[in-house]
Parts: sequence; structure tokens; C-alpha cells
Amino acid sequence: MQTLTLNNGVDMPVLGYGVFQIPEDETEQAVAAALSAGYQLVDTAAIYGNETAVGRAIANSGVPREDLFVTTKLWIGDAGPGKTPAAFERSLERLGLDYLDLYLIHQPYGDCHGAWREMEQLYRDGRVRAIGVSNFHPDRLMDLMAHNRVVPAVNQIEAHPFHQRVADHQFMRAHGVQVEAWGPFAQGKNNIFAHPVLVPIAEAHGVSTAQVIVRWLIQRGIVAIPKSVTPERIRRNIDVFGFELTAAQMAAIATLDNGASLFIDHRSPEAVERLSSYRVT
Ligand code: NAP
Repeated sequence: MQTLTLNNGVDMPVLGYGVFQIPEDETEQAVAAALSAGYQLVDTAAIYGNETAVGRAIANSGVPREDLFVTTKLWIGDAGPGKTPAAFERSLERLGLDYLDLYLIHQPYGDCHGAWREMEQLYRDGRVRAIGVSNFHPDRLMDLMAHNRVVPAVNQIEAHPFHQRVADHQFMRAHGVQVEAWGPFAQGKNNIFAHPVLVPIAEAHGVSTAQVIVRWLIQRGIVAIPKSVTPERIRRNIDVFGFELTAAQMAAIATLDNGASLFIDHRSPEAVERLSSYRVT
């Protein structure tokens, strides 16, 4: 698996497997399929409720721990002094691991600064190889960077052909923060897999539109974490290193950007209130 190097020197696979919305009882099998297909990065979160199943799949996979890159995320209610280290330990216990590769603040709400300082300590103590954030717009990211020591290694944000995050990506690149795309397939919205711009590009390379999208993100220098529970898709979505999109194809995909989220406005009071009401069970 190709890797890129984060701002602290840690290597991260350019492509991984996401488990959002996979029910607990299907997750072990899905992650097992992903690991046997060659994925090394697994992306979960405390709020997904499936860390234990991810851990079982890892334990049974036979893949050496050092060949894996495991990410999980701190939920809003667990942010802050005292709470963050305890939440971190609970996640590790559910995952059956003794260190994490990447720990992210899941949402830019609540006591992010308190959480970050606790995460900096976990990082200094060697419990996690890199720390980062998710869903931070550049202003929130700058606020975190301006008032703390460790620059986030990663910001995991919505990014797909309909919401390409070009300016945000430029900002993060300038500050050494790696962009990781969630929802790379826009969760199938806008009929993405049959899109008239993407289909001819896929046909030209003899690949699927999903493979084109993953390849497009990687060529932009963005880590992609596609989700699928379908074994054939799991296998094909990672098979993106045998072709290269041309400059003209990259430019054609660039025209699909609508510049707006298809899912959520993280700056809206409604989003803050709704997400803050969710609890890790
Ligand atoms: P996604 O990867 O954009 O889309 C997943 C959907 O695409 C599923 O319905 C899947 O169907 C379908 N699919 C996958 N491969 C396909 C293919 N080759 N052909 C046709 N359909 C295909 O959505 P996502 O799960 O929201 O995003 C990916 C990961 O990002 C998540 O799993 C999670 O780890 C992370 N994420 C993070 C946040 C955050 O706030 N930080 C938010 C959302 C997601 P099947 O499963 O039925 O195959």
C-alpha cells in the first residue's frame, strides 16, 4: 500500500476502509474482508458503536499490528480534562489494542481545546502515533493551532466530486495538515456511480466509477476511506494503483464541484445542537 508522510514523520496509507453505519453484527465480517483484500488503514469512531467488532476482526486477521493503521475518534461528550484519557482507554479496550495510530477529535464542538491538550499528552506518552481532528473548517483549525502546541496531523472532512474542498485543502496543505476524505462516494448521492462525467473516464481505464473517484482523491494528495459491505466492491475500491487519471480527466472531474456539503453544515446551530445530543453507548 502506498503511504504518505504526516507532519510528525509517521507514514499513513493513502487509502483505507471506513466503517460508519455498518451495524455492529456485520462489522467483523466486513473488516475481515477488507483486511484480507489488503486494506491496512481502518477508520472507526467511538460513536459508531462498532469498535469491538473492528477489534475482533483485527485480532482474527493474523495481520501484524505494525502493518495496520487504526484510527478512532473522540466523541463530543468525552472532550475535556479527565474525560478524554478515559474515553481513549475505553476505545482501546474495545479495539483490543494497546496503542492507536491516529486519534481524532470527531467534531469541532464542546471542549476541543481541553480534549486536544489531553490528546497531546497521550501522544507524548506514546499511546497514539498521531493526533488530529475531523470536520474542522479552517477557522476552527487555526484556533486550535494558535492556542496549542501540536499541529493536527490530519483533518478528516467531507470531500467528494460534488464537494471538493479545494480552498480548504490548500489551507491545510499550507499548514502541514493532511486532508482525509470522508464520504468519498457522497454515500451514493446524486447518482454518483452513474454520473455522465465519471462513467466515460471509468470506461477509458476499464475500471469502475468508484475506482475513478478513489484514484482522483489520491492524485490530489487526499487520503480516501471508502466504505462498502460488499466483498467485490471492497476488493475493487482498493485496486486503484494500476492506472492514472490524465490532467484532462482531473479537470473534467473538477467541474463537478458544487462547493457545498451534501450532508451537514457544521457551522449551523442546528448541527451543533443535534450532534451534541448524541451519546456514546
Ligand atoms: P461513502 O464511502 O461515500 O459511501 C458508502 C456507500 O457507497 C455505501 O452505500 C456503499 O454500499 C456504496 N459503495 C461503496 N463502494 C461502491 C462501489 N464500488 N459501487 C457502488 N456502490 C459502492 O460513505 P461513508 O461511509 O459516509 O464514508 C466513508 C467513511 O468515512 C465512513 O465509513 C467513515 O469511516 C468516515 N466518515 C467520517 C465522518 C466524520 O464525521 N468524520 C462522517 C462520515 C463518514 P455497500 O456498503 O452496500 O457496498
